[in-house]
Order: sequence, then C-alpha cells, then structure tokens
Amino acid sequence: MRVVEPFVELVRGLWTTLRVTFDRPVTIQYPEVKKPVKPRFRGRHVLKRYDNGLEKCIGCSLCAAACPADAIFVESSENTDEKRFSPGDRYASTYEINMLRCIFCGFCEDACPTEAIVLEDNYELSFTDRRQAIYPKEMLIDPVPPGGSPTPQKTPPGVYTRSVPEMKDPSD
Ligand code: SF4
Ligand code: SF4
Repeated sequence: MRVVEPFVELVRGLWTTLRVTFDRPVTIQYPEVKKPVKPRFRGRHVLKRYDNGLEKCIGCSLCAAACPADAIFVESSENTDEKRFSPGDRYASTYEINMLRCIFCGFCEDACPTEAIVLEDNYELSFTDRRQAIYPKEMLIDPVPPGGSPTPQKTPPGVYTRSVPEMKDPSD
C-alpha cells in the first residue's frame, strides 16, 4: 500500500493539472487591463462640477458631519460675483479626505445636498506615507468639462444666488 500511494497522488495531481489546462484564464494583465467593477461599487471620491465649470460643493460640511470615521475636513469661504467657485454664498476653500480613515460607507454621498461628492469606480489608492493618504480638493475635484470655465469665474450679479439649485447646470 505504501508503494502505491505516491503514484495515486501523482496521478491525481496530474489529472487536476490536465483538467484546468484548457479553462479560460481568470487572471488579467493589471494594470494594463482593469477589471470592471460592479455598478454599486464605492471607490475613490470625486468632487463634481456643473456643466459650466462651477463646483457643486458649497462648503456646507454636511458630509463631514455625516462621516462616521471623521475622515472629511471642510473649510468654507465666501463667493463673490468677481470670484465665484460655486452657486450661492459659499464654497469649499479647503476640502480634504483622509483615506486611511475612510471606510467607504457612502454616508457623505447621501448627506450632500448638491450631489457634489460621489464615490466612483477608482480603486487605485496607494500611498507610501500618512500625509499622502490625505487627499486634498485639487486631487478630488473633477476636471473642467468641455465648454465650461475653470473656477474662480467672474459671473453676472444676481444669477447664482441659490446655494442648492435644481440638479442641473445652473446656467440653463
Ligand atoms: S465614505 Fe463614509 S467614511 Fe468615507 S468619507 Fe464618506 S462618510 Fe466618511
Ligand atoms: S460635498 Fe456636499 S455635503 Fe460636503 S461640503 Fe460639499 S456640498 Fe456640503
């Protein structure tokens, strides 16, 4: 029995190898190929803009208040028509998320009255020291869309008076 046993194990091993040899590979060539995520996946946060380039974030800090991990820091400042970042009175002059604290629960997204903060599909969150884990507004904000203007913008008086416009481009 002791003589036969290694051969049995050998044949079983070879059979397993043969059985999976012609299966489709499950590995992908990351990072050249990226695996699509599920529709409800929550990845890295993005701060959104309206179509005209104005920022959706109004610096209200509701996301920071809703965050169970105390990962968000917001400081707001006043908009003027000469130097406008967002509709309404205020904008986020500082917006930071500490990715070491974030648990990707999405509460910040739910709390936001203007749909400014969205957890999208980017899962590439590597950093090599603790300071790099704090993502500032410059990293989080979306690029200016085609046809839009960068912020701050010079805007006509009396047009962008509401902080929470309807969920569409406020220039419409
Ligand atoms: S996803 Fe959750 S933990 Fe992360 S910043 Fe938003 S509220 Fe905080
Ligand atoms: S992301 Fe939304 S909830 Fe957070 S400060 Fe900006 S507008 Fe307020």
